[in-house]
Amino acid sequence: MYDAIVIGAGPAGLQAALTLGRMHRPTLLLDSGEYRNGTVLHMHNVVANDGTPPAEFRSTARAQLAEYADVEIRDVGAQTVTGGEGAFTVLLADGASVDTKSVILATGVADDLPPVPGLQDLWGVKAFSCPFCDGHEHAGRSIAILGPAPRAEHLIGLLGRIVADITVFPVEQEFSTDERQSLESLGARVNAGLVTAVASDADGVRVSAGDDEQTVAGVFVASGSLRHRAPFADQLGLHLLPSGSIEIDDFGRTSAPGVFAAGDLAHRASLPGPMASVLLAAAAGQLAAVGVIQSLMAP
Ligand SMILES: Cc1cc2nc3c(=O)[nH]c(=O)nc-3n(C[C@H](O)[C@H](O)[C@H](O)COP(=O)(O)OP(=O)(O)OC[C@H]3O[C@@H](n4cnc5c(N)ncnc54)[C@H](O)[C@@H]3O)c2cc1C
Repeated sequence: MYDAIVIGAGPAGLQAALTLGRMHRPTLLLDSGEYRNGTVLHMHNVVANDGTPPAEFRSTARAQLAEYADVEIRDVGAQTVTGGEGAFTVLLADGASVDTKSVILATGVADDLPPVPGLQDLWGVKAFSCPFCDGHEHAGRSIAILGPAPRAEHLIGLLGRIVADITVFPVEQEFSTDERQSLESLGARVNAGLVTAVASDADGVRVSAGDDEQTVAGVFVASGSLRHRAPFADQLGLHLLPSGSIEIDDFGRTSAPGVFAAGDLAHRASLPGPMASVLLAAAAGQLAAVGVIQSLMAP
């Protein structure tokens, strides 16, 4: 019987396991090897790790965790979580079943990209969505934003002061006259035709809209949606926020006693949505671990 099983070994799960290991709490950390930034070459806006490859971040974290006798890591997916506070069972993809007093869900989210041919291949390398993570690397260069209008306006507001120029391409649906004027009033160029493909070239990304082609340094995706990577929120009947994320309190507690959540799949109701950030995920992992320890100490 573990004190905690942490499902997911991105920044949230790795930090949760570190905190639990340091407090000598028998912990199992599970990893199916599907990381949100799995294609990213260099992460940014992570103090002391600005530019570090995410794979290096994870391997350093794992090497440091190996020093803690109470932390066991298994590279296997979890399939089901059943039971209740003090007595959960987690069924693993290799057929094993493991018991634990508490669970931390740190399985993250996956990005469902708009259906633009070539976009998936560029994701995390030359196609991005987060200005805080990847805007500065495009300073003084041309970028494209792939619609729709409201989110594109938000990206222009953040990126406009960093990059040299922005062309917005509609995706799936053309812009209305009002949308077009609004985007242009923010200083962006607007391409009339729908984006039909993106492809890497030596100078960056070739963006095609029918016969029109433009080469930019990188593209930012304004559409797309997030999907829970794992089914545990549904399985456990956890309360979700309007954003689709698991609702947690300050210590990562979910609506199910003994089940905690941290990272991109969860946030507090006071925030409008999940904050996609390595540091914030790690911080949430630490808080959830503290929440677990508090719950195990409760009389
Ligand atoms: C293109 C891109 C670029 C980004 N760049 C930056 C950046 O520069 N700086 C920054 O701060 N943030 C960046 N981010 C955001 C950052 O990657 C996430 O905020 C962060 O990875 C969230 O951490 P997490 O631990 O919640 O989830 P993840 O890192 O996604 O980790 C999820 C973990 O859960 C595991 N898992 C999933 N399902 C199961 C299962 N059933 N059983 C066992 N394990 C499972 C996975 O294997 C993985 O270990 C970027 C995101 C994207 C998409």
